[in-house]
Amino acid sequence: MNPITVAIRGKGLRKAVARGTIRGKGLRKAVARGIMLFQRYGLTNRKMDAALQLFAKIMQPFGGAATFPIVSKALQRNPAVIQKYQAQGIEFAMHGLHHFDHALLSYEEQQPQLTAGQQIFQQCNITLNGFRGPYLHYNEATLRVLNEIGLHYDSSPSLFWDVVPTDTADYQHVRQFYGARSASVYPSLPYIKGNLVRLPYSLPDDEALIERLTLSPAQMNGMWVNILLKSYQLGELFVIGLHPERIALCQAPLEAALNEARQLDPPVWVARLHEIAAWWQARHKTAVQITPLSNESWQISLNGPEGLTVLGRGVTVDVPTRPWFGQYQEIQATQFTVISTTRPFIGVAPTTAPALVDFLRQQGYLIETSSQANDYPYYFNQTTFTAEQQRPLLALLEEASNAPLIRLSRWPNRVRSAVSVTGDIDALTVWDYIIRAIS
Ligand SMILES: [Zn+2]
Repeated sequence: MNPITVAIRGKGLRKAVARGTIRGKGLRKAVARGIMLFQRYGLTNRKMDAALQLFAKIMQPFGGAATFPIVSKALQRNPAVIQKYQAQGIEFAMHGLHHFDHALLSYEEQQPQLTAGQQIFQQCNITLNGFRGPYLHYNEATLRVLNEIGLHYDSSPSLFWDVVPTDTADYQHVRQFYGARSASVYPSLPYIKGNLVRLPYSLPDDEALIERLTLSPAQMNGMWVNILLKSYQLGELFVIGLHPERIALCQAPLEAALNEARQLDPPVWVARLHEIAAWWQARHKTAVQITPLSNESWQISLNGPEGLTVLGRGVTVDVPTRPWFGQYQEIQATQFTVISTTRPFIGVAPTTAPALVDFLRQQGYLIETSSQANDYPYYFNQTTFTAEQQRPLLALLEEASNAPLIRLSRWPNRVRSAVSVTGDIDALTVWDYIIRAIS
């Protein structure tokens, strides 16, 4: 994923140089990286196997809940190693057939490549549910192909969190290269697009910690804890990026974040990307039935996936509750009667932008279409809704408010936020790099 490796993709170094794809660092650094790659991977997959072994051991208390997107060609050359870690619970996803920049490829180029990449997973008996583009790059054609070949998620979009003590030109450069957006502006949440769930990747990742930023050991060790706490406060998703070959260098920051996650209550869900995508789709399909009993009471019936967590605030219900997070109580039933001074749902005008309604539903809010604005604690009547309006909307609905509301929690089993530990596998041996450079 390092931008320098862009130079060595697909069509060879000379062509890459001619196309100006060695971004800012020049040939000398590309050569230095080549030497470093020999040291990192070696001629056999022994080094990567050891790295994966350490990674799997760290994730063992979490049932091996990690996801490694791997280049299909690298999988094809090393199936036994990958099968071994799949048996330990690790999930693998596709990181391209080759380590190509998908943003530069047409539909006609990507369709056969990703189909062939998927077939390699089948031939190697590795379960495949999702994709992450090399360099976190993709285009509309990528998403179209992923939908067509039946994958369930894409984890290529990226967000950067405001946790870095001192920004650097290198880190700015890489954020720009990835097309990363600020998590202060855009929520770090799954979102459904077609049949795919998009799962944003969080920066800084391992590469930024080690190569792009200037951090003291204490700052580095606390970086992912800080993101974890921010995402927890917001009830959002933190997708950690840690290339397995750097596990020894980033073991302390990873373990610090996981230890913190383990101590929080309500808990944090440490999950594989495919579990998060499947949950988001299943919870979104929850059937909601609201039956009025009087002007101030309603019968609520929710039919959703196992683990569905129902939240309420500013209301009275006829079933047991227990404190959850902020003003919310967890309502410990999916069928209950609620008493409230206003309808404890979100009202939208019939002409409200579908994008706004869809966003609210994906968050788990219960929506009613109505022209009676005064019946609701929140009522929206706007014909446009942009991604930049998502975070202010969530702040309005969630921050320091006790306005009556019943909603589905975003996450299962009363968890507050989700963490997914992921790491791209570009190669298992240096030969994977060499073949990639000349293919
Ligand atoms: Zn990569």
